[in-house]
Amino acid sequence: MDEFDLIARHFDWPAHRPEVALAVGDDAALIDPPAGSRLTVATDMLVAGRHFPFDTPPEAVAHKALAVNLSDLAAMGAEPLAFTLSLGLPRDTETDWLARFSGGMRRLAERSGCDLIGGDTVGADTLTLSVTVIGRLPAGQALTRAGARAGDRLAVSGHIGDASLGLAVVMQPDTVPAGIEPAGREALRRRLDLPEPRLSLGRSLLGEASAGLDCSDGLLQDIGHLLDASGLAATIDLSAVPLSSTARAWLAARPGDLERLVTGGDDYELIVALPPGIDVSRFPELTVIGELVDGPVGEIRERHGRALPTRRGYQHFENAEA
Ligand code: ADP
Ligand code: MG
Repeated sequence: MDEFDLIARHFDWPAHRPEVALAVGDDAALIDPPAGSRLTVATDMLVAGRHFPFDTPPEAVAHKALAVNLSDLAAMGAEPLAFTLSLGLPRDTETDWLARFSGGMRRLAERSGCDLIGGDTVGADTLTLSVTVIGRLPAGQALTRAGARAGDRLAVSGHIGDASLGLAVVMQPDTVPAGIEPAGREALRRRLDLPEPRLSLGRSLLGEASAGLDCSDGLLQDIGHLLDASGLAATIDLSAVPLSSTARAWLAARPGDLERLVTGGDDYELIVALPPGIDVSRFPELTVIGELVDGPVGEIRERHGRALPTRRGYQHFENAEA
């Protein structure tokens, strides 16, 4: 099958959005942004064996590649419009794998209202995917990392750390506590493979939260990014970090793994700063874990004096020369 057949067969499903005037098939796509809106663009790249385990099912690889990008739009408070998909495919990729991959991607795309409008397809030694998403915001608005104030509460959505435990289930199965049943392992693995972008929460926080970002590289590291951009320090309460029942059971057996939960990454939850006037109970997905304070920019202190890990999260070039 040549490149054109491959695209026609797997990546040329119909676009639905009125804003998308021309999608896959021409030299470039066309989007007509609605009057009174601004566009926001994000891109994220995934490499097999680095961003997902080699044995990840194709539906999940596709889901994750799009979901991590939609999570960036959620973090800006944006509504998704469209995305491009660039694929570096190993030469021996089978049609069945591609069919499952495109099915997984199409399901998330359609339920998120995000049209596939183009991309590129090349041969590669390692499966590599790059997605670029385009979203819309009301003109002049956005939820950025800057803008938080001292006195704002720091809150996170959902549960933190399940994906890092899911990675341990895959990569270091002998570190899984005996009390974690197969269903619990499966749930953790799903949190690693199938992150759910917090799109409706992000949109509801636009104009309410003072700053925000998504949690992708480790809770502490990503809090640090918000602090750097907003010029603040934070006090956090480690015991307030919201954990799933499976993660709590895991920690009861291996308390030292708390560090892994708050630095492990791949959560794709939102981290936001809430000004004092905002009633948190309006956002049931959110849990307050601390507050923003004046102090050395980027510093994170634990409310009860508990030690925080010095390595705050995942770093892509940790072992590189430059
Ligand atoms: P060009 O040579 O002009 O770059 P291509 O032959 O690479 O065009 O692609 C043909 C069309 O297919 C373009 O509209 C492009 O956006 C689209 N396309 C290529 N690869 C993908 C993909 N993986 N997913 C969706 N659309 C794709
Ligand atoms: Mg091309």
